[in-house]
Amino acid sequence: MPTPALLLDRAALDRNIAAMAAFAEAQGVELRPHAKTHKSAEIARRQIDAGAVGICCAKLGEAEALAEGGVADIHLTSPVVAPGAIARLAALHARIALSVVVDHPGNARALGAIDGLTVFIDVDPGSHRTGVTSPEAAVDLAEAIAATGSLRLGGVQYYCGSHQHIAGLAERRAAIEERTDYLRTVLDALRSAGFLIPIVTGGGTGTFAIDAALGVFTELQVGSYIFLDREYRDCELAGPRFEPALFVDATVVSANTPGMVTIDAGLKAFATDAGVPAVLDGAPLDSRYAFTGDEHGALNGAGLPGLGARVTLMPPHCDPTVNLYDRYYVLEGDSVTGTWPVTARGRST
Ligand code: PLP
Ligand code: MN
Repeated sequence: MPTPALLLDRAALDRNIAAMAAFAEAQGVELRPHAKTHKSAEIARRQIDAGAVGICCAKLGEAEALAEGGVADIHLTSPVVAPGAIARLAALHARIALSVVVDHPGNARALGAIDGLTVFIDVDPGSHRTGVTSPEAAVDLAEAIAATGSLRLGGVQYYCGSHQHIAGLAERRAAIEERTDYLRTVLDALRSAGFLIPIVTGGGTGTFAIDAALGVFTELQVGSYIFLDREYRDCELAGPRFEPALFVDATVVSANTPGMVTIDAGLKAFATDAGVPAVLDGAPLDSRYAFTGDEHGALNGAGLPGLGARVTLMPPHCDPTVNLYDRYYVLEGDSVTGTWPVTARGRST
């Protein structure tokens, strides 16, 4: 196995998938895991086999790749706006069960060309990434959807992205309770205006247990729980316990300076938005990683391994790290038994 390499502990992955499936079943909520995390048809199949109703994709290209890989029920969590993209959406709608978010009446009118397409009203939780920004705007959009005569209103999507990584559980719960009160006002406005909202979809690994307890969501879009990256390991999570299942292995390629070694995993081996990777094996656990360039990183500390040694690291942020690799090396116990492709790698269109 050449390094840097993306490794997946198959048994830990399956335990994480099973733990979330059991949680959702016990709470009486559906599971539609987000495939932006893994971009893998194999992992999507395992989630669906464990009871998920389908998957989410962030981008149309990701959905096309996973549909090609055999996934037959996909919800797109980002708006599809460009005319060329809407034409591709129509083609995908003809092949699989598909739904997409919408956050503007103009987009609803454009999507209306796709007869029978299911759309979800995306509600902005205050981060202003996507979504309608008031109960009145949600009702206006629902009316525009109904006026197309061709679109089906599937429900509402609400994803509190910036709340997922609030480190303390009590603080995260308080923030989500407040944001859920707001969501209730949007749902009340839609229902009072006569619209049926069968599905309320959203939530992530940082909030799903809080969301389930509050009882407003009917469907959870959790993504990162399958891998548990360093950023989520550092959060106080509620609900079932998840295990690290995703690793990057690197090799010590230079060891000439006391108290540090250089490994072959740098800016091209890890997403860099969430700090640094943590050392898990092959070097003292308190060794400190530092990015030193495109291709290299430093480990600083005492008792470091020598030239040619293999080191295992925990990625800081799983989703954009996975997108840097063509394949997962699949670990069964201590041995690599095969590879799974990162099916939708680079499919960000
Ligand atoms: N739903 C949406 C709309 C998302 O953008 C994401 C991730 O960013 C998720 C769900 C999954 O969240 P997480 O990876 O925190 O579980
Ligand atoms: Mn993420």
